[in-house]
Amino acid sequence: MTSELAGTKALVTGATSGIGRATAMELAGLGAHVVVSGRDENRGNQVVEEIRSAGGQAWFVATDLHDAATARALARAAKEQLGQVDVLVNTAGIYPFGPTEQIAEEQFDAVYSLNVKAPYFLVAELAPEMAMRGRGAIVNVTTMVAEFGAAGFSLYGSSKAAMVLLTKSWAAEYGPSGVRVNAVSPGPTRTEGTASMGDALDQLARGGPAGRPGSVEEITEAIIFLVSDRASFIHGAVLPVDGGRVAV
Ligand code: NAP
Repeated sequence: MTSELAGTKALVTGATSGIGRATAMELAGLGAHVVVSGRDENRGNQVVEEIRSAGGQAWFVATDLHDAATARALARAAKEQLGQVDVLVNTAGIYPFGPTEQIAEEQFDAVYSLNVKAPYFLVAELAPEMAMRGRGAIVNVTTMVAEFGAAGFSLYGSSKAAMVLLTKSWAAEYGPSGVRVNAVSPGPTRTEGTASMGDALDQLARGGPAGRPGSVEEITEAIIFLVSDRASFIHGAVLPVDGGRVAV
């Protein structure tokens, strides 16, 4: 096991599946101590077991993120488990799509509660302490459809566009104290969450130079880079990992 992140204390939301799970496993593989979070106990415990059997350190904290109280409670539980949190990766997200006129208010609230409100209050709870220690890294997982208008993505795309601006706001707010805040903006990626999309995922990916969906490993690589000291001069960046889709 390499130890680039030895002893780093990390909280990953959405770590029971897809991009978040791969990120938690990679962080632990690099020596970080990781709190794995999500709602599903079975999947969470499985991730923790996999990390531990590979020699890493991880704990599962089950949380249904939907408001400031649940976000702050998760942040506090992670601090209790780890002593402090140096790295926060905001991966938990839902991505329903459909015509604006068919989106119910409950669905609107669910998307903004998980995709925007939860990371907002996780950062509110954790970033000031990182700033006091003069060190920390936060990575928000956004999406390529936060970068351009696409029919059917008004709700999801706008929630992640809020995260794009928050990434820059927090870089301005906490960066001068040594906390780097960045975002990774994936294109279509094969995960449990997108499995039901089948060929539609390939279609969505076809417009970019790579012409194919990404893998979780390809997205995770960028997240780990932004967390690591290799990205020490990078603040407030939104790194597209989308096969070139937003570039062309
Ligand atoms: P996924 O496989 O659908 O997993 C979603 C994760 O979020 C799970 O760990 C889930 O955990 C957690 N989650 C969902 N609702 C939650 C809630 N109320 N409280 C706490 N945790 C909750 O997701 P993914 O495809 O890897 O996507 C991860 C992130 O990347 C998302 O933010 C997504 O918007 C973004 N993204 C994905 C793609 C893509 O094509 N896959 C593209 C661009 C951006 P539980 O089920 O255990 O609660």
